[in-house]
Amino acid sequence: MQRLLKQRCLEQRTQRDAAQRTRVRRIVTRRAGVHCEVDGRWLLNFCSNDYLGLSQHPALLAALHTATSSGGIASHLVCGQAAEHAALEHALADWQQLPRALLFGSGYVANLAVLQALLGQGDVCVQDKLNHASLIDGARLAGCAFKRYPHNDVAAAVRQLATCTEGARLLATDGVFSMDGDVAPLHALATAARQHDALLYVDEAHAAGVLGEAGRGSAAAAGLGADDAPLRLITFGKALGSVGAAVVGDADLIEHLLQTARGGIYTTAMPPAQAAATQAAVALVQGAEGEALRQRLHENIAQFRAGAAQLGLPLLPSSTAIQPLLIGDDAEALARARALEAQGYWVTAIRPPTVPDGSARLRITLSALHTQQQIAGLLDALAPA
Ligand SMILES: *Cc1c(COP(=O)(O)O)cnc(C)c1O
Repeated sequence: MQRLLKQRCLEQRTQRDAAQRTRVRRIVTRRAGVHCEVDGRWLLNFCSNDYLGLSQHPALLAALHTATSSGGIASHLVCGQAAEHAALEHALADWQQLPRALLFGSGYVANLAVLQALLGQGDVCVQDKLNHASLIDGARLAGCAFKRYPHNDVAAAVRQLATCTEGARLLATDGVFSMDGDVAPLHALATAARQHDALLYVDEAHAAGVLGEAGRGSAAAAGLGADDAPLRLITFGKALGSVGAAVVGDADLIEHLLQTARGGIYTTAMPPAQAAATQAAVALVQGAEGEALRQRLHENIAQFRAGAAQLGLPLLPSSTAIQPLLIGDDAEALARARALEAQGYWVTAIRPPTVPDGSARLRITLSALHTQQQIAGLLDALAPA
């Protein structure tokens, strides 16, 4: 075996262990809504992104079973585009009130694909420092100039947009930040983008299904139209309870992505069954049931925040389902997560490099399926001794 590589892996492992940053994958053997059997013991789940509880909804499960194929059989451009894929793309465009949608295997791949297809040398990509790793990796892969501004600092974003005089400008932001839960100042960012002739790209991963009218997302909630936010990422693995992603927006940009985005071309299409399940979720979030679930979720968020404030817990300024408790120290965050688990609550400690150094946290996420009693129980468990 290659000696240097092996040695490097071992060294990094030792460092990771010493810093309490080694991650483990817990095995979930059974799941029923917010109840999870983890390594043989039932826990209440407060760390999933299944904000509306759709991942086990009968409508999605029924759609999965309509499948005639467990595989995508080829790339979309070869012979992989099934009727289910086409129907889902139309349903997504209708829902988002945007001209066109294009499917990708995952949100991670979609972000790489979009930035690589649209940007290159001489262009600039301006991003919030707390953007998701996929946006950061995408800008690096694109080979463009890459500028990051302090979290939600619109004035800094404007300064960075102004540095590019020749090429194309793209301003990318999470709509809801995945580890902090706050919402980007989208109205101000859209104004900045317009003034500097930049394309605003909004990653709706944690907003789709939960924010805005009909759950259209953060851009819609901020009142942005097709001209203000011409390209948006919708991921299916969070509130939509499925897996996969789509980029939705301007028809010419989408056609360019279809023709050139490597992350969409050189990969197998998602299973048609997955597309059918996702389409069921898209229908659900727009209907009365989706509205009722969002209402329940917002009641749960309000209950949790009020209770946490009363206990003096270090909440971040988030109004979404993502309610992190800042701890700081990695080992301390791990110990807090273990203590919660001992009381039957599953909350993951999020440590660097997923979050900046010194900002380890308990990332508590709420779901429409949590009951008042379960949230009250979690608050009791979080109460300082
Ligand atoms: C989860 C997430 C992604 C990646 O989506 P996947 O479909 O899970 O690959 C992209 N952006 C943000 C902000 C996310 O939270």
